[in-house]
Amino acid sequence: MTHIITSLCMRDGSCVDVCPVECIVPGSPESEWPLYYIDRDTCIDCGACVPECPWEAIFPEEDVPTDYKGKGTINVRGDVLEQRLNMAAGTAGFDQVYDGTDSHGNAVHLEATRVLKKGEIVDLTPAIADNDNFFQSGPGYSAQP
Ligand code: SF4
Ligand code: SF4
Repeated sequence: MTHIITSLCMRDGSCVDVCPVECIVPGSPESEWPLYYIDRDTCIDCGACVPECPWEAIFPEEDVPTDYKGKGTINVRGDVLEQRLNMAAGTAGFDQVYDGTDSHGNAVHLEATRVLKKGEIVDLTPAIADNDNFFQSGPGYSAQP
């Protein structure tokens, strides 16, 4: 079992700071690995990362929804922001740029997002395979800054 970061992730980074086993890795290069990823072999399923994520992007693996219902807006540290999905560069339909800041005040610039409308239904489970690919055939821990 593990927790999974889904494409609702806007690279805020709060999750990394609370993980007791340091198993959350920022994807790099961002164009190819746009999210943060959790190493399932190390994650102890403590759940500490879930409430820390202002974008509400993290789920226990068994609870990743196939029919997630868009909320329209999300309160990110007091700012009401449009909820988005974040994908790899070149993904069809994901051509909206997101500019924001992460939990440390660093600029976040994402090229391949799209706004998730209120009530829109999306399947978030493809993030499970993407997460495993990141560690099995992708950069894994070598992506750490
Ligand atoms: S806190 Fe949420 S948005 Fe930020 S990196 Fe972690 S999963 Fe992504
Ligand atoms: S569930 Fe716990 S161990 Fe797993 S990634 Fe989140 S904070 Fe880390």
